[in-house]
Amino acid sequence: MNILISGCLLGLKCRYDAKEKKLPEIEKLIEIYNLIPVCPEQLGGLPTPRIPAERVNNKVVNQAGVDVTKEYQLGAEEALKIAKLYNCKKAILKEKSPSCGCGKIYDGTFLKNLIVGNGFTADLLLKNGVEIFGESEIDKLK
Ligand code: SF4
Repeated sequence: MNILISGCLLGLKCRYDAKEKKLPEIEKLIEIYNLIPVCPEQLGGLPTPRIPAERVNNKVVNQAGVDVTKEYQLGAEEALKIAKLYNCKKAILKEKSPSCGCGKIYDGTFLKNLIVGNGFTADLLLKNGVEIFGESEIDKLK
C-alpha cells in the first residue's frame, strides 16, 4: 500500500531550518508500506532553509511579515497531485506545520501557541478523501 508522508518525517532535510524530524519507527513502517515523501513547502517553490511561517485563518505569513499563501496553496495542490498519482488513500503528516499540520497548528503569533486547525496540505488532502495521521498517531497504522 502506498502512503504519502511528510518528507521531514522520512528523514529528508527539508524543514525551514534545513533539518529533518525522522520518525524513530520509520524502518518498521518502510517494511510494511511504500512511503511516498512530499514536502509541500518545497513543492510550492520555497527555498530551504526558509523563514518560518504560520497559518492565520486562510493565509500563511512568514516571520518577516511576508504573505506566502500562494506558495502554500501551490504546495498543497502539488502534494495532492502526487497522492493521486500514487493512489495514496492515507497520509502521515508532520504535526503543527502550516502545511502538514493536522488537528493542531500554531496560531500565527510565533509564540508556540497551539490552536485547533490543519495546515493547507492537510486540509486539501482531507477534502479529497485522503485519511490523515499525525506522527503521534502512527500506531493506528501498524
Ligand atoms: Fe516537513 Fe511538511 Fe514542513 Fe515539508 S512542509 S518540512 S514535509 S512539515
